[in-house]
Amino acid sequence: MISASALDDLRDRNPVPAIAGRWVVLRRGTKAGRMVGPCPICSPDPASRTAARFECEADKWVCAVCQDGGDVIRLVERREGLDFRSAVAWLGGAQEVDPADEARRARDLAEKKARQEAQAANFRERERRKMYRLWSDGQRLAGSPAEAYLARRGLTAPPTASLRFHPRVPYFVSRPKAGGGTQWQPVHEGPAMLAAIVGPEGRFAGVHITWLDLDAPKGKLELTDPETGEVLPAKKVRGSMGGGRIELLRGASAPCLIIGEGIETVLSVYAALVALGRPLDGIAMWSAVSLGNLAGPTARDCRVRHPTAKDRAGRAVRIPGAVPDPEGKAVTIPDHVTDLRLLGDGDSDPFATGLAMERAAARHARPGRRVSIAWPEPGRDFNSMLVA
Ligand SMILES: [Zn+2]
Repeated sequence: MISASALDDLRDRNPVPAIAGRWVVLRRGTKAGRMVGPCPICSPDPASRTAARFECEADKWVCAVCQDGGDVIRLVERREGLDFRSAVAWLGGAQEVDPADEARRARDLAEKKARQEAQAANFRERERRKMYRLWSDGQRLAGSPAEAYLARRGLTAPPTASLRFHPRVPYFVSRPKAGGGTQWQPVHEGPAMLAAIVGPEGRFAGVHITWLDLDAPKGKLELTDPETGEVLPAKKVRGSMGGGRIELLRGASAPCLIIGEGIETVLSVYAALVALGRPLDGIAMWSAVSLGNLAGPTARDCRVRHPTAKDRAGRAVRIPGAVPDPEGKAVTIPDHVTDLRLLGDGDSDPFATGLAMERAAARHARPGRRVSIAWPEPGRDFNSMLVA
């Protein structure tokens, strides 16, 4: 039996970036103390300078492609195909520590953690206020280029939608600083559609931004990073989205809630209901901003073998399964909702999306609430169906 403090000591002696750095080239991430790069387990190119699937800090790692993560022991287990004891031995073995040293270290660690949490909370609140100012400076959607952007996709927004237009929204990317850490650098400023994100307590939490270029084929900005040549996404969230939502059709205590991942998906279903002349009384419609925020995280040890995706070593990739972790964050569905309709999005990996939607349905299930999942036709999304 290895004591918990001996394992902590082993982890302290083997910071994740140092161990992962034996296999792949990591670079500084956007957050202080965080490193990003190719994944030691699944990346085809360990020397890639642009890969960002793997992120780690001293005591933890996560890979967006493996959809796995944990401490340094877990990393060695996965990378070297070892069991727990062999991974501990691989890292130099556990050594029992002096209880006085251990107590001192636990105290130092707790103090450091409290300082970091206070700093992070401070940063989040400053960002929230900044985003609230941006949102407050926004203009009415009606008659704006954001309305024209939606119209191009056959969409109109309900009058109560939390959507606005802003003529000048800066776009920042993070760059490594000479002396370590990162800094934000503006690479663009221009018109954008803003969507207010409301947090679980009903308070303004952040903004979802879609940069526009009505001369581009899809009406969205096509932006490449002038330094790296990387294609940048036209959409970004600033502030917090965890547990939050974008309210598109507001119904104060509507028993029926229709909710999907993206704004365009939900507005497509709204447009279809309007076109069919369906009454909208008793219906609210929200975007959950992301699939992760709609479905929430997976229960520990509920990972499912992907039928086709393989990692670097040719092993099947394991992805989050259908069993929810009720402690994790996801959009909060009000208790008065008795008819919850989840909108699936057909355009990404159908297997992973299917599991995520099942997880969402399980997570949001309550006695007395009917939960259903609506899917677009295979290979399409609700917007392409609407346009067709
Ligand atoms: Zn990976």
